[in-house]
Amino acid sequence: MKCITGKVEHDSEEIALEVLIKNRIRYDHREGSGPIDVYQCAECAAWHFTSSGPPASVLQEEEVIERIRTEKRLLDWSDKF
Ligand SMILES: [Zn+2]
Repeated sequence: MKCITGKVEHDSEEIALEVLIKNRIRYDHREGSGPIDVYQCAECAAWHFTSSGPPASVLQEEEVIERIRTEKRLLDWSDKF
């Protein structure tokens, strides 16, 4: 069943956060824009992205920041060839 919010549904917080990281790798969100966290929906009980509130703590982990930076660079590189 589709959620009334119209947002993409993710089965768990873990999955939603992983997709969020991939989203930030793929799209060049400016600082302070784009989805920054996930929350469990009161309507459908699935997990959605949100662009308000403080960024997810996982996005502030050194390891994740480094991964986003590295994979972004790889994407930039493969787009040129
Ligand atoms: Zn929902």
